Amino acid sequence: MKALRLYGPKDIRIEEVPVPAINENEILLKVKAAAFCGTDVRMWQYGYPGVDESKPLTLGHEFAGVIEKVGHNVPFYQPGMNVALQPNIGCGLCDRCVAGNFHLCDNYRAFGINMDGAFADYVVIPEDAITRGNITVLSDTPLFAESAIIEPLSCAYSGFTKMQVEPGDYALVVGAGPIGVMHVKLLHLAGAKVLLNDLSEERLAYCKSILPYLETYAGDDLPGAVEAFTSGKGLDIAITANPAPSVQAAVLPLMNYGGRVNFFGGIPKEKQPVSIDTNLIHYRELIVTGSTRSSIAHYRRVVNLVESGLLDISDLITDRYSIEEAETAIENAKAAKGIKHIIEFNKCLTR
Ligand SMILES: [Zn+2]
Ligand SMILES: [Zn+2]
Repeated sequence: MKALRLYGPKDIRIEEVPVPAINENEILLKVKAAAFCGTDVRMWQYGYPGVDESKPLTLGHEFAGVIEKVGHNVPFYQPGMNVALQPNIGCGLCDRCVAGNFHLCDNYRAFGINMDGAFADYVVIPEDAITRGNITVLSDTPLFAESAIIEPLSCAYSGFTKMQVEPGDYALVVGAGPIGVMHVKLLHLAGAKVLLNDLSEERLAYCKSILPYLETYAGDDLPGAVEAFTSGKGLDIAITANPAPSVQAAVLPLMNYGGRVNFFGGIPKEKQPVSIDTNLIHYRELIVTGSTRSSIAHYRRVVNLVESGLLDISDLITDRYSIEEAETAIENAKAAKGIKHIIEFNKCLTR
């Protein structure tokens, strides 16, 4: 089978490798669609600890497919089932795992990060992923490409749930990347009015074309734009979906009393600490939240939102490739062309 393997910084190779064998407690998944994200781009640019010439890693943590083979001891799952995968596998023992927050486990492992992932015709689903619920069964008429991007959408959903969004809220999203657009979709679903801010007019124009009620702003007077957008009231909701410290500081003065903020995008370590005016939080009684990754419970809720048709994310899949075109896909994702870049495996079945 073909696999996209990372060997080190700027060194990924599409290679022919054997279809992996499974034991009695594992599942072999035929991958149908797998999506690139910023994490893949960063791993390709900078490499990843433990990955080198002697220990390459198959990338890909956003994916869906069909169960090909099931070990004798595996409960419930059957060959032919269409499934999507939450990629973070918790240790199962710590307090956070016991609370269902496998994604916050100190010892979690993840497909395509520190174990082989899904930019390959087949991927092995290990026993701990099966028994901890990382597999979600899809409908009989699955949308594989959409299902592959449930993972980042569920991360946005995790942040969304912390902000008590109400219909009619004024919301600002800063950053029109895939995550920012996913946040806009969830906010719209909840009845919020959304202003999307980004430096790229071109990106905002595309977002506006797929999101009819969206307002956008690309200039250098964000306070003025928010003032006009909220008729002077200030924001109820703000989400920073980018890695700029200045944005975290800049959104707080734009908030209305009781406003809710989600610092979704992490800030590079070397740029911490970020200087913010904590009096704004104090006097305006703001709720400032953070979120990272997503729980399996949130992941399954989002599968349901998408499969039920309540949330259409097909327009976020702007570019589709075969595995042979993977390097072009990663270059395009890095250059912030389009929204989501998906590898589909229909074209290159190995048998
Ligand atoms: Zn991702
Ligand atoms: Zn744990």
